[in-house]
Amino acid sequence: MINICEVGLRDGLQNEKKGITTEHKISLIKKLIDAGIKKFEAVSFVNPKIIPQMADAEEVIKQAPKLDDVSYAGLVLSHSGLERALKTDIDTLHIVMATSNEFNMKNARRTVDQSINELTAVTSEGISENRNITATLGTAFGCPYEGDIPLKHILHISESFIQSGATNITLADTTGVANPQQVANIVKQFKEYFGESIQLGLHFHNTRGLGLANVLAGYLNGVRDFDSSIGGLGGCPFAPKAIGNVCTEDMVNMFHEMNVNTNTNLETLVNSSKWLEKRLDKQLDGMMMKII
Ligand code: ZN
Repeated sequence: MINICEVGLRDGLQNEKKGITTEHKISLIKKLIDAGIKKFEAVSFVNPKIIPQMADAEEVIKQAPKLDDVSYAGLVLSHSGLERALKTDIDTLHIVMATSNEFNMKNARRTVDQSINELTAVTSEGISENRNITATLGTAFGCPYEGDIPLKHILHISESFIQSGATNITLADTTGVANPQQVANIVKQFKEYFGESIQLGLHFHNTRGLGLANVLAGYLNGVRDFDSSIGGLGGCPFAPKAIGNVCTEDMVNMFHEMNVNTNTNLETLVNSSKWLEKRLDKQLDGMMMKII
């Protein structure tokens, strides 16, 4: 059994020039719940002037169906993001920073150390307000400016969040540079260092066509939590033509073919992708939606 975090509404839509309405976002969430999705990264509490596609974060969380077994997460990159998130009844905070100084400077206008200081405090505050916390470490498999990120660096940042109470860490391949051998190495060493008490998730982009290969490398090394995006929605802010996240229904198909349970219905997922394709008025990158 694997657990899917559907990130299309956040990582996917934030990279789309043509946004969709709040009403359509809620329709998409409902379709994906019908398909068996239990966990959504649905919104981002960032400055709407920088990412207008996420300007309706509060409204999306307000209108999303509240079900006991469905949880919603929102991205928090700073203390001001936390303040907005805490005014909603969102279950989970995905607290995000990049692991390379230059990328973090460009993305959050803070050094890695500044972000660690701010965001570990945000983690503690979020926990005291009864929210679940996942620390998401971006550029963990390489940075477009700094190249490889030393593993000790990733372990150090992870440890800072774990000491502040985070029980989930997601390593994100923000610009799609990871390869399966590297994924296997990093996962093995992460698990050796932290043991099984920390739930490790993986977030891949299909920029170089290696998304599913990287998911498989993670799975074969014991990871069971994967981010993916319906229809393969999304892109890469540094490569305008790049394709998006690992595609949810393609990943589901791979696991079903391997007899691994995902608790989702492939056909309903594909129908959701086809519906979204019409709303966005563009062809999506998913493979299964082209043959079903
Ligand atoms: Zn991403």
